Amino acid sequence: MDTVAVQKTTLEKCIVCDEKKLTGIHLFTSFICSDCERDMVNTDTSDPKYKYYIDRLKSVKRS
Ligand SMILES: [Zn+2]
Repeated sequence: MDTVAVQKTTLEKCIVCDEKKLTGIHLFTSFICSDCERDMVNTDTSDPKYKYYIDRLKSVKRS
């Protein structure tokens, strides 16, 4: 009988890019991968992309 190896490393789903990543930060109960976190930091608050990030965060916080 074949057994599927269970990976010990916990991949968490990033709320911004929806990808499972190993490294990142936790904001409330949400996980943001280090890539998106860096992106957010480098995004100007007047950039529409920034609003997108905030919206993602809000939608997760609400649920
Ligand atoms: Zn991400």
